[in-house]
Amino acid sequence: MRGTLIIGAGAAGLFASRYLPDSLLLEHNPKPAQKIKISGGGKCNVTNKEISSSHYHCGDTNFVQKVLQKYDNTKLLHFLAKAGCRPVVRKKGQYFCPHSSSELIDILLSHRPQIELGCEVEGVEKTNQGFVVHTNKGDYLAKTVLVASGGLSYKKIGASPIGYEIAKSFGHTIMTLRPALVGLTVQKEQFWFKQLAGISMRARVEVAGKVFEDDILFTHKGISGPAIFNASLYWERGAIILSFLPRLPRLSPHKIISTQLPLPKRFVKAFLKSIGIEDKKVGELSLEEKKRLELLCRYPFAPAGTFGYERAEVTKGGVSLQEIQEDMQSRLVPGLFFAGEVLDVTGELGGYNFQWAFSSAYAAAKGIKQFLVE
Ligand SMILES: Cc1cc2nc3c(=O)[nH]c(=O)nc-3n(C[C@H](O)[C@H](O)[C@H](O)COP(=O)(O)OP(=O)(O)OC[C@H]3O[C@@H](n4cnc5c(N)ncnc54)[C@H](O)[C@@H]3O)c2cc1C
Repeated sequence: MRGTLIIGAGAAGLFASRYLPDSLLLEHNPKPAQKIKISGGGKCNVTNKEISSSHYHCGDTNFVQKVLQKYDNTKLLHFLAKAGCRPVVRKKGQYFCPHSSSELIDILLSHRPQIELGCEVEGVEKTNQGFVVHTNKGDYLAKTVLVASGGLSYKKIGASPIGYEIAKSFGHTIMTLRPALVGLTVQKEQFWFKQLAGISMRARVEVAGKVFEDDILFTHKGISGPAIFNASLYWERGAIILSFLPRLPRLSPHKIISTQLPLPKRFVKAFLKSIGIEDKKVGELSLEEKKRLELLCRYPFAPAGTFGYERAEVTKGGVSLQEIQEDMQSRLVPGLFFAGEVLDVTGELGGYNFQWAFSSAYAAAKGIKQFLVE
């Protein structure tokens, strides 16, 4: 009987398979690693200079920190360098493949893993003989199973709920699933954002005690851009605060407001209209209007929702860490392992999700090896 069946030939599944020679990957796509291919604008942001659990939304930061430490960014970069790929820092400590995400995919496939492509996993059962994985191509049998089937984002390139369904069928708790690293839709008070579609500017975003300073992008659906993507990871409901300017500059009373602010003019005009102030000379503003203008430095708004799974880079929530050991094995079902995005661990923008996929896959592979020798 085979040692391990790995569900999903994505980042976590392929990486784990390196360490598990007696494994078979089951992948329903016609090709492996489709998400890696399109990630990071086609250049895949593999990891970050600063890896720690503080950049993750998860059910247990200690757990995540321990798993990250055992296979951190240094080890990952060393592994890639040895294989001939030296990722480059493009912005904010983010490491990208030098030319294309195919460089990473080639490395992940270089050990020639056994992959059953076009193989749709439908469920898993545990029998006296071992684990039986039911698929459209028939049943597969193994001593251990690694669920590395990812989240719900980007169904068009293979995302499915199978990992959560398998976990639930064995009695695992699934922490609430939501699209994350995604744009936010707005309520009617902020419909003025939509008129600014295409405008990108720097802003500071505060949400649930976290602060992100980066670009925001107004779109036809609401608001997006890296700062908003990160905010979406921590936003549950209620207000987030946007600072379009850190403070109001000294303004000449003789000049029109929109000519004096260091912000796109179209934005300033729409902003002023939304807060009921005419674009007039600063000297003509009432005291109360001057106060209202300070909303530029602290503009609270409650998003209506997100752009959804089809636009989200990741799924937050997932298999509860309370029921998972540090070797990624289920506390409920010996021999059943999990890795990657299917777990209740979601990183910020910046290579954190691939780092998690690789770190957790490494821990799972070690755990599986140990399980198989015992
Ligand atoms: C557009 C986009 C850009 C991104 N860019 C970055 C980035 O630059 N940096 C970063 O860190 N993260 C990025 N991410 C997030 C990152 O891609 C994921 O977090 C990561 O791929 C998760 O790895 P995984 O192995 O858990 O899941 P995946 O890589 O999604 O792999 C899961 C695999 O399981 C397969 N599968 C699913 N259901 C079944 C089934 N029923 N039967 C058989 N196979 C199945 C899927 O087809 C897939 O191949 C991006 C995501 C998107 C959508």
